[in-house]
Amino acid sequence: MKVLVINAGSSSIKYQLYQMPEARVLAKGMVERIGEESSKLAHSYDAKTHSIDAKVPDHEAGMELILKTLADKEVGVISNISEIESVGHRVVHGGEEFTGSMLIDETVVKSIEKFADLAPLHNPPNLTGIRAAQHKLPKSAQVACFDTAFHSTIPEVAYMYALPYEIYEKYRVRRYGFHGTSHRYVARRAAEIMGIDKYEFNAVTCHLGNGCSMTAVKNGKSVDTSMGLTPLEGLVMGTRSGDFDPAILFYLADKGYDFKSLNAMCNKQSGLLGISGLSNDMRNISELAETGNKRAKLAIDIFCYRIKKYIGAYAAALGRLDAVIFTGGIGENATGLRAQICSELNQIGIKIDLTKNRDARKESDVSADDSPVKVLVIPTNEELAIAKDTFELAGGKPSGK
Ligand code: ADP
Repeated sequence: MKVLVINAGSSSIKYQLYQMPEARVLAKGMVERIGEESSKLAHSYDAKTHSIDAKVPDHEAGMELILKTLADKEVGVISNISEIESVGHRVVHGGEEFTGSMLIDETVVKSIEKFADLAPLHNPPNLTGIRAAQHKLPKSAQVACFDTAFHSTIPEVAYMYALPYEIYEKYRVRRYGFHGTSHRYVARRAAEIMGIDKYEFNAVTCHLGNGCSMTAVKNGKSVDTSMGLTPLEGLVMGTRSGDFDPAILFYLADKGYDFKSLNAMCNKQSGLLGISGLSNDMRNISELAETGNKRAKLAIDIFCYRIKKYIGAYAAALGRLDAVIFTGGIGENATGLRAQICSELNQIGIKIDLTKNRDARKESDVSADDSPVKVLVIPTNEELAIAKDTFELAGGKPSGK
C-alpha cells in the first residue's frame, strides 16, 4: 500500500510517500511559501533532487503540485495518483477526544475545527491540508494523527493545573502535551533496541528541536509531559520561554504591555533568542558561545539546566528509569549539550560516556558501561509513525504501536 504522509503548516506542506508495510520512502519533499509571490517545491526521490519555483496561491494548489510531481513521468515515483490508497495527516491538537490516530470523517473534522481554539496556529492549516487531500484524492482513506494523542494516558494528578476547578470544567484548561508522535516513536524504538517489552519500559524522552518537550514514559505510556495547554510551557525553546512565573504577565500588563505583545513576547521573542538577543538557532548560539559571547553561553546554560531539572523530576515521578532518550535536531546533534545535561546525574544512575557521546551517529547508546540508566540518541521519525498508523487504520496489518 502506498501511504502519503502530509504535514501542513500555515505556508508550507511537507510530504513523504511510503511503500507500506516495508516502510520504504519512495519520495519526499516540501512546498514552501504558499500564498506568497513565488513558492518553491523541493522534491527528492531515488537519492535525486528536483526543485521548481511556481505560483502556489493556496493549499489546494500546493496539494495539486505535490500529486502532479509524484506522478510526473520524469521525477515521479508512481504512474497515477490513484495508487495512493491512504493519506496520513499530522494534526497538532486533538483535545481530550482523541486517544489515538483516527480515520477522518465529518465528526473528526468538526472536532479538529473545535480544537483550533486551543491551537490557532496549527489546527487550521492542518485542516486545510486535510480538505485539500480529500478533494484531490476522494477515494483514499484519510487518517489524522494527533500530537496530543500519546499523552491521553497522563493521569489527572499530572494534567490538572491548580486553578479553580471550574476553569477546567468550563474551558477544558489542562495539560495536553505535544510532540506525542515523536515521544512515542523514540520510546518504542528504545524499548526495541534494549530488548525490553514496550509495556514494561520506563524512560524520559527529550525531544529537542525548535520546539522542545520532555515526556515521562511509564510502562510504555506517557504519564507526564512538559508542554501544557499550549506548546509554551516547559523547556526553553528557540523563541518560547517555557516555564516562568505567570505573575510576570500581570506585572508587565500593569506596565502597559497589552495582550498581543505579551503573547508575541512569550512565543516569538523569548527562549534562546530572547536570552541571547542574537539567534533562535542552537547551531548559531553554540558558535557564538564558543567565541566567548556571554549571553549565548547563558542561553545554553539555562537551556541545559531546565532539562536537567525535568530529568530529576521525571525520575522521581517514574520511580524506576530504564533510559533517557535524546531526539530532535538539538538532541540528535548537539553532543556538548548532551554532555552538559547529563553531567553530575550519577546519583540518579545516569552516566554518559564522553567518547561514545562525541562519536554518536544515528541510533547510539552513549551511556557509560556501568551506567544503570541507558542514555540513548534516537533520531525521531514522526512521518514513519504516521505512515504506520495510517497503514493500520486504512486496513493494512496492525503495526503494533
Ligand atoms: P523542528 O523542531 O523545526 O523540527 P529540528 O528538530 O530540525 O527542528 O531542530 C532544529 C534545531 O536543531 C535548531 O536549533 C538547530 O540549530 C539545531 N541543530 C541542528 N544541528 C545541530 C548541531 N549539529 N548542533 C547543535 N544544534 C543543532
